Order: sequence, then structure tokens, then C-alpha cells
Amino acid sequence: MTKNLSPVALPPRIKKVFQTFQKEGWQIYLVGGAVRDLLLQRPFHDWDFTTNAPPKAIQKLFPQSFYHNKFGTVTIPLAKNQNIEITPFRQEADYHDYRHPSKIRWGKTLEEDLQRRDFTINAIALSYQKRRVGIIDPYEGQEDIKKQLIRAVKNPEERFHEDALRMLRAIRLSSQLGFLIEKNTFAAIQKNAGLIKKISAERIRDELWKILASRYPAEGINFLRTSHLLHYLIPELEAAYGVAQAKHHIYDVWTHSLKALASCPSPDPLVRFATLIHDIGKPVTARGEGAERTFYNHEVVGAKIARRLSQRFRLSKKDSQRLWRLVRWHQFTVEEHQTDKALRRFIRHVGKENLQDMLLLRTADRIGSGSRPTSWRFELFKKRLAEVQKQPFTIKDLKINGHEVMEKLKIPPGPLVGKILQALFHEVEENPKHNQRRYLLKQLPIIYRQLVASATSSKPPKEAQP
Ligand code: ATP
Ligand code: MG
Repeated sequence: MTKNLSPVALPPRIKKVFQTFQKEGWQIYLVGGAVRDLLLQRPFHDWDFTTNAPPKAIQKLFPQSFYHNKFGTVTIPLAKNQNIEITPFRQEADYHDYRHPSKIRWGKTLEEDLQRRDFTINAIALSYQKRRVGIIDPYEGQEDIKKQLIRAVKNPEERFHEDALRMLRAIRLSSQLGFLIEKNTFAAIQKNAGLIKKISAERIRDELWKILASRYPAEGINFLRTSHLLHYLIPELEAAYGVAQAKHHIYDVWTHSLKALASCPSPDPLVRFATLIHDIGKPVTARGEGAERTFYNHEVVGAKIARRLSQRFRLSKKDSQRLWRLVRWHQFTVEEHQTDKALRRFIRHVGKENLQDMLLLRTADRIGSGSRPTSWRFELFKKRLAEVQKQPFTIKDLKINGHEVMEKLKIPPGPLVGKILQALFHEVEENPKHNQRRYLLKQLPIIYRQLVASATSSKPPKEAQP
């Protein structure tokens, strides 16, 4: 079953691991993603080994290693973000909840260990003995690497019943590697897609994020739909399929969303997710047909859905805020006659820290609509955004402060002081030249009188943010 494979070059540090085990009479193999990626000549981070040595014996061989999980994996740090992970042979059996084997059983042989792995391309082992590299490949993973296919090890339905996350892993691997999913494996996903509901939100999010960050994210999302997984993960996005737009749009909402994702210049999965769902409010806000079709307020409705998705996938508070803002404010205009004040309001809404991401989303949105990546208006808009950010911007930049307001008007501390500063700020925003102490002090009594006079009129409530 073994054969020479000269193109695989192993670093000295890795050869040393093989030798250290073999000196003590243990079996040792490189397995999983490392072997797959070596054969594909792709970069990877973790070197996964499997052995017949128990964890205690492994630790003895590598005093600098640590071991703290129920799978018996011993980790040896190699470099930043790079580990050697050694796990004793395992076999898995008795799944009852579609995600965890009820009991992990140690295996006696490499063959047992390989047959519990998910896909043939992940079930190849590599040996190194007497300066020779050998490959053990009982499920013909190398053939599938050649054919660029993701195929389940043995019966796909059984494998997905054991662990439903494998369905999502299939699509993730497919979008990272640019491989297709083998026919029977894909049919088994379609048939069992509903089992994905058994999987924890965090594990789903990790895979979804890997799909988004991958080389072929749009193909991945398309496979999520055709495999029916999307129906259980993000039905709100599935609803965009076939939703026509008004005449000047060449694509329906689904096609546009995928094309935008495919063109997103940001590598950040969150920005890519925002790009994918920026129009997710359209299916519910669509009114009228043909050229008359409108989607009023779709960005407001979309932002609400974004918040729901943040909860569903347990995003951090920071990421939910970013997602909400990117979706809520994606519908901005780059019209050249806008005032500086309008531009500042836009920056305040989006948040300075998200501005670059918002512009990248717009670039993707444009390409995804069949337009050029930019226009003279868009370029001018970017230039003006940079310029207005150099001018006074927050209340703190005003040339007078709250103490001076209280002193000059002889009023006590309270909300009124803030309101007065806010009013001054708006004035300076309109005209930055007005940010001078003397001018602002002169304005104080006028603004004070105006505010007291209008104190009885009520304001509309503000839209809630997450
Ligand atoms: P990457 O590290 O790029 O995410 P990988 O293939 O190395 O890809 P890991 O999650 O690191 O994926 O898993 C290492 C190996 O363990 C896989 O190649 C596969 O052989 C096996 N494996 C991982 N998850 C599962 C699973 N849910 N079911 C069966 N085997 C699995
Ligand atoms: Mg790995």
C-alpha cells in the first residue's frame, strides 16, 4: 500500500519527530490536513500525527509538550500559529446525538484511525522511515485529490449521522480547495441537511467564517443553498433567490449578493459576510413588479436581520456592531454636491473604524451589479471623506468646554449644558471657520434662548442600535 513520493519534502524538525518515536519502538504517522496539503503543495499550519503510543509516553518523549483534552492530543508548539499535534490512534463508535461519539475508543491500528476520518482526502497517512517517505491511502484519497473531489470515507449518510458538522466541512473544504463534492456525498448532504440543527452555533460559525474567508466564497455559499443547508442556517438569505430587481439592475438579489461577495476586496470574513447579506432586507421589502419594483427601507429591515444573525451565530459584541453598521448604512450616496456636514454625519453613523470596510463593501456592491469598481464620483467622495476627517469633528474639538458654558450663562451642571455644546457643534460642523473661542462665546446666549424656547417641542424617537 506504500509507495515513494519524492516531491514531499519534510523539514528536519518533522523528521526528528518520526525518529524520536521510532527509536522507542512506537509507530508514528503524519495524517489529516497536513498530508493533504503537502500533496497539494498548499501552505498549512498544524502538523498532525497519530501514533500507537499513549499520551503519557508521548509527553515523556517531548518534555516541552502539553496535554489537556479528552482526545489525548499532545501539543508541541513549533512557531507562531504552528503546532505539532500528536493524537493516539482512535476509533469512534456509538454516536447518539449527531455530533459527539458517546464514547471515544482508542484504536489499535492506523487503519482504524483512518476509517473514522471524514473525507478520503483527509484519510491519507504519511510515514517516514529509513529516510524514505511512504503513503498509506486505503480510501484512495490521492485519486480524489487528482480528480479534485470531496468524497466521504465509506457510507456518507452514516458519516453525516455520526457528526452532522461534516456536511458543512465538506462545503468548507470545497470552497478552500476549489474541489467539487462527489455525487453520492452531495446527495447525502441534501437528504440530511436538517441534521445541522443539532450542531452548536459556534462550530457552525467557525465553518461559515472559513467558507467566507476562502478562495471561492461565492461557490461555497451557492453550495450551501443547493445542498439545502442554507435553509436551516440563513433562511432569510435563501429567500433572496430569484427575487427580481427593478429594470436598471441586471441581476436578481441572490445573484447580486453572490457576485458582490465574490468581488469583495476585503479578506475579513465579517466584512465579506456583511457584503453577502447587505441586501438581505430586500425579499421582505419588495413592492411592485418590473420597472416599478421598490425596496424602501431595505437597509433598516436588513440591519434588523443582521442583528438576529449575530445572535444566531453568537458573534462578539464588537462584530455584531460592525455587522449592523455595515448593513444599516450601506445605501449611502456619493453625490458630489453633499455638504461637509452630510459627510460627517455619514462618518458618525458608520464609525471611523469601519469606514474603510464600508468603502470596500461598496466596491463589491458595484462590481456585483455589473459596474466598474469605481467612478470619478466615488473617488471624489473618498477624497472628501479623508479631508473632512482632518477638520474638527467631535464636541471635544470645540474651542470652548462645558465649564465655560456654565460660567458664562450662570447655569448649573445638567443635560442643558450638553445640549448647548451639541448645538454649537452643529454650527461648527456646518462651518468649520466658526470654531473660534470669541465667536462661540458670543453665540452662547443666543443658543441658550433658542433651546429654552423650544424645550416644549418633542422629538421623534431614535432608531435603536444593538
Ligand atoms: P484545517 O486545519 O485547514 O481546518 P484539516 O483537514 O486539518 O483542515 P482539522 O479540523 O484540523 O481539519 O482536522 C484534522 C483532521 O481530523 C482532518 O483532516 C480529518 O482527517 C479529521 N477530522 C476533523 N474533523 C473531523 C470530523 N468532524 N469527522 C471526522 N474526521 C474529522
Ligand atoms: Mg488541521
